[in-house]
Amino acid sequence: MATPARQAWRQLIRTSSRSPATPSNLLQQQRLALRRQASTSTRAPSRRAVAPSPSALLRPQPSARRSYSSGPQGNQQTPPPPPPPPRSNGNQVKFWPFVIVIACGSGGYMLLVNRRKEIPPSQRATPPDMAPTKPTPAFSAADVTVLFVLGGPGAGKGTQCARLVHDYGFTHLSAGDLLRAEQDRPGSQYGQLIRDCIKNGAIVPQEVTIALLEQAMRAAMAAASANRRFLIDGFPRKMDQALKFEEVVCPARLVLFYDCPEAEMERRLMERGKTSGRADDNADSIRKRFRTFVDTSMPVVTHYEAGDRVVKIDATPTPDQVYAVTQQRLKQALGDKF
Ligand code: UDP
Ligand code: MG
Repeated sequence: MATPARQAWRQLIRTSSRSPATPSNLLQQQRLALRRQASTSTRAPSRRAVAPSPSALLRPQPSARRSYSSGPQGNQQTPPPPPPPPRSNGNQVKFWPFVIVIACGSGGYMLLVNRRKEIPPSQRATPPDMAPTKPTPAFSAADVTVLFVLGGPGAGKGTQCARLVHDYGFTHLSAGDLLRAEQDRPGSQYGQLIRDCIKNGAIVPQEVTIALLEQAMRAAMAAASANRRFLIDGFPRKMDQALKFEEVVCPARLVLFYDCPEAEMERRLMERGKTSGRADDNADSIRKRFRTFVDTSMPVVTHYEAGDRVVKIDATPTPDQVYAVTQQRLKQALGDKF
């Protein structure tokens, strides 16, 4: 903003450029300008009365401006001091930076709005105009019941699941069975990867397993006898699978954990290996599967235990005995008609 003194100076320059610059002319013009300046100053007393802020006091004062702004100095015939150097273009406000900032902001906002329209509503957070901070699960826990069934290899998960399906109408999805089916599907790009993982008791990358599970859940819900209650057997075997599944597919209601000593599981697997035809029911693969279970899968059980979502059942007795306990514990956890 121009100060009154500066306005006076500009006025003086302007008038002097119109008339010859004789000394008396200059003096007359200077007086005229100073009179104008004095009248302008009296019009804005409030601004001058404001006490300077502490930071303003610390700033160096522009002495050049003060020397010709007021008082008797205005009457001296010494040539006026040179005009003050332009300070960020004086009173000319530059609008183009604001225009650019507003244009970029509006453009970015429109881009976000258009992108958002392409996302299916099921994956959007509500309300719809809020950008989601993380993906919304495909199914909500209010519509779909998911029980994870965990336990070491040979603990008896498949056996207990078959009984629960028979008596309570759950849909049973075995992660291992889905992976074996994908491995054998002609043209599958994951066939070899799955084969290698299973043989070595390693965990198949979560993207593959989670995609297979979600696809199987959708198929079960699309069927005529649409079922929304699932036993997901042998999954999640790793923390990242657990977190990702609950984030993108559906939160789990609880974990049914079949606890069995390693010696008993090994005996069962060796027995099963005589007829199962499974590539991993042999001593070498079994040893690796035990390792993976202890190192990678048990932390998943511990994670859900901390959230009080685990129903732990001793899986050493006979299948009938284990099933009786399973029913009783599920009734306690989910209600009589679970
Ligand atoms: N598997 C996997 N991710 C899973 C489930 C299974 O990678 O979420 C693989 C893993 O190599 C495992 C094999 O599939 O050793 C067999 O799994 P299954 O559940 O059939 O074995 P179980 O524990 O019932 O003996
Ligand atoms: Mg199994």
